Amino acid sequence: MKNLAVLTSGGDAPGMNAAIRAVVRTSFSRGVHAWGVLNGYSGLIEGNFKRLGPRDVGNIIQRGGTILGSARCPEFRTEEGVELAVRRLRGAGIDGLVVIGGNGSQSGANALRRIGFPVIGVASTIDNDLFGSEVTIGVDTALNVALNAIDNLKVTASSHRRALLVEVMGRKCGFLALMAGIAGGAEAIVIPEAEFPPEQLAERIQDAYERGKPHAIVVVAEGAAYNAERLCRYFEEHELLRGFEFRSTVLGYVLRGAAPTCRDRLLATRLGAEAAERMVASESGILVGEEKGAIVTTPLEEVVAGNKPLDSWFLNTADTLAR
Ligand code: ATP
Repeated sequence: MKNLAVLTSGGDAPGMNAAIRAVVRTSFSRGVHAWGVLNGYSGLIEGNFKRLGPRDVGNIIQRGGTILGSARCPEFRTEEGVELAVRRLRGAGIDGLVVIGGNGSQSGANALRRIGFPVIGVASTIDNDLFGSEVTIGVDTALNVALNAIDNLKVTASSHRRALLVEVMGRKCGFLALMAGIAGGAEAIVIPEAEFPPEQLAERIQDAYERGKPHAIVVVAEGAAYNAERLCRYFEEHELLRGFEFRSTVLGYVLRGAAPTCRDRLLATRLGAEAAERMVASESGILVGEEKGAIVTTPLEEVVAGNKPLDSWFLNTADTLAR
């Protein structure tokens, strides 16, 4: 191994920069040259590579986003796209690739593995829906941003005795909504994994009003069949909410752009360094993640086939805590 490359792909996640930094500096310490691929798999297909030394990754550990850029690249989902990418990598003398990203990105990494190119994944997505890592890079920061917003929204909701529907990101996964809802003291949480009819939700909000609560915070996952907008429309059309006035807020991309928390910087640093160490040791076809506080690896084949369920304790306890 003389040259390794690193890319970030899919939705950006706070901590990606810390992971890039760890990959580059660990490779350097092992005498391996590091290359950055610009704009995810699009840059791979275009051969958009940039040599990265230790100084190029200075002053980025505290920054959100990704200095390499990220992209969603439909062409990489095709066999021709993957083959072209491998030709570009081999043409540049690169012997292995570290892929920092979520589910889709690790499917891309697995496609490279299948045609024999050495690749190692690093678990990074704010959605926390990636099998092989209990927690992924960016989750802690996104949760803290959501919590800050929920705390603020609760103050204004109380002043006006309002019910506030707060939608959070997470694609088809309700992890962020569930955890932000519990930690933010929400009156109800709506997630795709445990949906219930809007009538039932309205009853719950009404019940909170009658019990004398000054506000009702409902955290809604973007992937729920009834997201915040649909719920609002439904409540209005069916005149379901009496008592509280209601409003909705969508916490979209704001969850992704924050500076990484200490937890995310440390996680990203550990995962990035481990990925580089293993690549230098000629390992391939694995995802580096964290389980119960320890660094673990999982074959990419299992990662892309796996399904990560939500923690059942949190799922079962959310209603009790909202009383
Ligand atoms: P996040 O969920 O945090 O946004 P992600 O990695 O899941 O991150 P995706 O948009 O699903 O984001 O995937 C990123 C890119 O990975 C896609 O644009 C595509 O280039 C590549 N990719 C996704 N699925 C596959 C696949 N099955 N085969 C090859 N490449 C894939």
